[in-house]
Amino acid sequence: MSDTDSTSQSDTLRTPIVAVLGHVDHGKTSLLDKVRGSAVSEGEAGAITQHIGATAVPLDTVSQMAGSLVNPDDFDLPGLLFIDTPGHHSFSTLRSRGGALADIAILVVDVNDGFQPQTEEAIDILKRTGTPFIVAANKVDTTPGWNPQKGEPIQKSLEAQSSRAKSKLDESLYELIGQLSDRGFSSDFYWRVQNFQKNIGVVPVSAMTGEGIPDLLGVLMGLSQRYMKDEMAIDVAGPGYGTVLEVKEERGFGATLDVVLYDGTIRAGDTIVVGGANEPIVTEVRALLQPRPNAEIRTEKRFDKVEEVGAAAGVKIAAPDLEDAMAGAPVRVVGDRDVDEVIHEVEAELADIEVTTEEEG
Ligand code: GDP
Repeated sequence: MSDTDSTSQSDTLRTPIVAVLGHVDHGKTSLLDKVRGSAVSEGEAGAITQHIGATAVPLDTVSQMAGSLVNPDDFDLPGLLFIDTPGHHSFSTLRSRGGALADIAILVVDVNDGFQPQTEEAIDILKRTGTPFIVAANKVDTTPGWNPQKGEPIQKSLEAQSSRAKSKLDESLYELIGQLSDRGFSSDFYWRVQNFQKNIGVVPVSAMTGEGIPDLLGVLMGLSQRYMKDEMAIDVAGPGYGTVLEVKEERGFGATLDVVLYDGTIRAGDTIVVGGANEPIVTEVRALLQPRPNAEIRTEKRFDKVEEVGAAAGVKIAAPDLEDAMAGAPVRVVGDRDVDEVIHEVEAELADIEVTTEEEG
């Protein structure tokens, strides 16, 4: 947080941004809730940080939850940032510099239901954007004869199952692996995968009982550390780059932006350029807002003002003239650059988004 050690212009490693995709009712929301809930019950205060539109799970919490699966000494990425709004619609409109905003994705598939239309759509989007992903084979607890092992790693849970339940689950999992193979993805149970760039890891989980959640977090963390470290190196002190999740009216603030920042820093008072319905909007940040911890729904003050936010993070931006801003549009801090240059960058990025959305039909 200090500017004093700017002698070395060393990059900072940011949190990887994780998105959750999958067919309706396959358990995306439950899975996110479980990750948040288990993190909180596992650790003390600070186990997670609720951002606007996202949840940050720090490395310490990941390793507490994952137990022997994650040794914090093996990692230097600071944790994981989950985008709270699941679904492939939000995923496909959320871009950064032409790529996907999310660095990594969890494709949730109901283990009994297998591939469904929105699973196919999600797979197409992941393929097109080249986003690395893992498959959460969810609802393992619905396997006939299942003996639930609350919050345990999946191997441990499997040891507690009857051979009948185990082979039932295996059957469903192999079917899923076959379905992935039909779409050109080689996959396997995650503990057998050596190279996650060649093979998709399948993690059996239950968003209901929490079984396999430690594994899911461990795999996400391991994958990010192993294959994405270079991409996570950012100049956190540089001008902020973000993507609009949502444009929202807030009492007392007017139109505000919920943004995921994926590079640099944004400060109150910064001049920013935002993609708008007609033309880029140039405005000045009036306030940066974060959810107030434990805020009661009915209390007036739902947000805390913060002076600055560094990537990766979710944040609400209050500023004049945001009415025409669009979800999915880029947000850029001008910093010491020429404002016209930044306007051109935003225009170019918007043009790119429009082309790809049209292609999706
Ligand atoms: P989404 O539409 O993908 O976000 O799915 P939801 O998270 O809303 O889940 C759909 C339904 O499946 C809800 O009734 C959940 O309670 C249920 N569900 C989700 N995950 C599990 C699970 O692991 N086991 C069981 N038994 N039910 C689950």
